[in-house]
Amino acid sequence: MGNKIICGKSLEEWICHNPLLKKIINTETTLWSNPKYDKFENAINSISLSMEDVVDCEQRLKRFAPFIVKHFPETKKLNGIIESPLIKIPSMQKYISELYNTNLPGHMLLKCDNLLSIAGSIKARGGIYEVLKHTEDLALKNNLITLDDDYSKLAHKKYIDFFNKYTIQVGSTGNLGLSIGIMSAKIGFNVIVHMSKDAKQWKKDLLRSKGVTVIEYKSDYNKAVKKGRALSNNDPTSYFIDDENSINLFLGYSAAAIRLKKQLDEMNIVIDENHPLFVYLPCGVGGGPGGVAFGLKLLFKDNVHCFFAEPTHSPCMLLGMLTEQHNKICVQDFGIDNITEADGLAVGRPSGFVGKTFKNLLSGIYTIQDDELYVLLSSLIDTEKIRLEPSACAGIVGPWEIFKNKTGLSYLESHNLIDKMNNAIHISWATGGQLVPEEIMNEYYNIGKNFSKLS
Ligand SMILES: *Cc1c(COP(=O)(O)O)cnc(C)c1O
Repeated sequence: MGNKIICGKSLEEWICHNPLLKKIINTETTLWSNPKYDKFENAINSISLSMEDVVDCEQRLKRFAPFIVKHFPETKKLNGIIESPLIKIPSMQKYISELYNTNLPGHMLLKCDNLLSIAGSIKARGGIYEVLKHTEDLALKNNLITLDDDYSKLAHKKYIDFFNKYTIQVGSTGNLGLSIGIMSAKIGFNVIVHMSKDAKQWKKDLLRSKGVTVIEYKSDYNKAVKKGRALSNNDPTSYFIDDENSINLFLGYSAAAIRLKKQLDEMNIVIDENHPLFVYLPCGVGGGPGGVAFGLKLLFKDNVHCFFAEPTHSPCMLLGMLTEQHNKICVQDFGIDNITEADGLAVGRPSGFVGKTFKNLLSGIYTIQDDELYVLLSSLIDTEKIRLEPSACAGIVGPWEIFKNKTGLSYLESHNLIDKMNNAIHISWATGGQLVPEEIMNEYYNIGKNFSKLS
């Protein structure tokens, strides 16, 4: 790297200003506590999105529910609402407490987005929502429906033929392509998914089997998005779903908060000043964790503390926020390779929109190694019979990352949380896994078991 200038400063200058960068560059695990974290009432002033936008999104999803049931009968149980369970995982909690030699005060829950119908990952929130929003916009503009109609009529052939005149394109490391591809193909759109080199073969195969065009790139996510965006912009009938900048995608994720609040209520779990909520979200480009966390901040304000989790080899949001350069900076600028088995998180350049929105709302970010993701993956199968993909395991250790770490403890201290931790609720967001083919899940499991033996 030598004297290379990164966003106006030499590497030495960057490290001098941010000593934590040394560990990040060496791909050591770290916990960063956001020095700009601020009270919700202050932080929200500089953000243009509000609860009204989230509610509007939730209402749109309700309008589409009859349509979803029609195309995807597996959603009938929840009346066409795509939502996941919130569960206790006591055996896993005990296992990690022993592994880390740290007992966790408070209660730990797992939000099982791995079980979301249709896409089997958190992308069933944002990805599907944006496709539906675009569908509704087109249908309204062409007088095919009114807002009061039963949208299930859109499942009829004449509408499918109508949507077939339009194309949807997206760049993806795998899961976003799956959610958008599966939904768009059902509606009738032509779909082109631009897959980065990280995308797993089975995800591409599955999409092609649904009639989706998959274009493969030898480059990483950022480049696949760039190419897809350019191709789509050249075609007036094509709509590009832009994971790096899309507000609709972000809002689609945020509706999770309204539903989570309901689930907590049903479990008689109160979140207030004396019962803080901690949420741990695996982060790639940032839209998924950002959207969910944004909804939660709107609902629970200063009583919720949101942490993102990234692979040590793809800490793009961490670099973007720490340097305050957001999407101007990428992990490769610091000589980090962006190579990780956590394909859902293999992103080298963060969303600038999410980084800026969260600059005063995010509590912190920790990083985790691939080996550890595999150990968690196999342990979760052993202890709770829950099958997650590697990316989705990044949030599971969140509570312990805070407790075993000096930076974490000083965060708790400075926000007067130490004596409330016995009442704390920790939610790890399990972001995907349901669609992983069994033989590949078995491979993951065996890798995890082998790593467990070594440690
Ligand atoms: C996409 C994804 C994430 C992260 O979402 P971003 O919007 O990319 O930050 C986390 N886990 C899984 C399994 C994913 O597919």
